Amino acid sequence: MARVEMFSRSIRLTDMLSRRLVSRQALRSVWTGRESLEEDDPEVMAIIKQEKKRQLHGLELIASENFASRAVIEALGSCLTNKYSEGYPGARYYGGNLFIDKIESLCQTRALEAFRLDPHLWGVNVQPYSGSPANFEAFTALLKPHDRIMGLDLPDGGHLTHGFMTDTKRISATSVFFESMPYRLNPQTGYIDYDKLRDTAHLFRPKLIIAGTTAYSRLLDYKAYREICDEVNAYMLADMAHVSGLVAANVIPSPFDYADVVTSTTHKTLRGPRSGMIFYRKGKKGVDKKGNDIMYDLEKKINNAVFPALQGGPHEHQIGALAVALKQAKSPEFREYQQQVLKNAKVMAKALLDKGYNVVSGGTDNHLVLVDLKSKGTDGARVERILELCEISVNKNTCAGDKSPMTPGGLRIGAPAMTSRGMKEKDFEKIVEFLDHGVQIGINAKKYSKTLKEFRHVVIANEDLQAQIDRVRAEVTEFASQFPMPGLDDR
Ligand SMILES: *Cc1c(COP(=O)(O)O)cnc(C)c1O
Repeated sequence: MARVEMFSRSIRLTDMLSRRLVSRQALRSVWTGRESLEEDDPEVMAIIKQEKKRQLHGLELIASENFASRAVIEALGSCLTNKYSEGYPGARYYGGNLFIDKIESLCQTRALEAFRLDPHLWGVNVQPYSGSPANFEAFTALLKPHDRIMGLDLPDGGHLTHGFMTDTKRISATSVFFESMPYRLNPQTGYIDYDKLRDTAHLFRPKLIIAGTTAYSRLLDYKAYREICDEVNAYMLADMAHVSGLVAANVIPSPFDYADVVTSTTHKTLRGPRSGMIFYRKGKKGVDKKGNDIMYDLEKKINNAVFPALQGGPHEHQIGALAVALKQAKSPEFREYQQQVLKNAKVMAKALLDKGYNVVSGGTDNHLVLVDLKSKGTDGARVERILELCEISVNKNTCAGDKSPMTPGGLRIGAPAMTSRGMKEKDFEKIVEFLDHGVQIGINAKKYSKTLKEFRHVVIANEDLQAQIDRVRAEVTEFASQFPMPGLDDR
């Protein structure tokens, strides 16, 4: 009897224990959303770590890129991403926006402060998802379908969204929904040809002229744009995407002195999260013949174009992160950083000139340098590929007179990202040494190959070239790894 009792007790005990074990396992397998990225998705985490390593080990010379600070990335990865907030601060289509309103209003205030703007004369929309939507939204606000626009041609340094089209195809939607006419550089000087712009504007009669560039190493003559716009009664839109950090730091002239509307990205020289902004004039525009005030009517137009016309819920995590970046942009350290960017770009241009390179326009006034490689007997596509294998990131770029956008003659090289890692003038001289090695390898490789396709094959198949590339890559990674990286340590 006692033995039976003991037996059944022990069964109950094992039963209980195993049940507890099962429930504990079950508990562990319940997904709570509190697991780290490492635990939850090691596959994605591993790719992020690889990308982090690439960024750490390489030389980032893409002029539109930068390294956001840890504080910006923390705000970007915050709970602000959870919230719907269609509408604007104080007038939302969703409840629960008390703190979101605070974040967005703070971002607006800081945006105006960062560019030294009087809130009675300028307003800002911080909701555009990025630079391209910001431009399309500004056009939607100011124009009717098929109204005319003029922007710098893409091969001459303009952006796609400035109405880019080719002889046979309308490429950018801004050339599909609006009628676009480009203006160009003077091919002799490499500077924007303002006389031709004026002549064309008088013929074409655009409703809007864009003052903005993506691959141009000189300052823009905003006053000239304003005069031309006034002559033909066009809006002046300045797209300061590339230079907004330099403008905020007040180390180059500001488009706000002349433009009606200013668009920008926030992730280039400004060092913020990937996002966009639209600034618009408000208040009194002038006086009519009877002496009555004429007021700007841009605020409502711009805000309606962003929401509800083209966007839904704003990305408040981007807006929060942008607020952080704009606070940084008002600091004396940020101004020092941008001054260093200008110095570094100048050193790079000079070192390239000293090595016999053809620097477009003969130098730089901003954060980037354009090199025309045709006189060296190679081109941007080949050198971009070699440099990529050496862990140096640059862009191939069209130069005046180039026929093919796939094998353009030039390279665009920027100073912002490596300056964010603390590099100074002598480091940029070293960078030019690396670039020069890469170009030499490109010239050697061209001897073995006619087409770009053959070239791509040769550079990985030819042992001699491989050895040359390996040598440069080893030096590049050793050099780059010494410099501290903004952001989080492992992601
Ligand atoms: C980068 C850039 C844009 C577009 O920005 P995205 O964020 O890539 O959409 C627009 N205009 C100019 C002048 C730019 O350089």
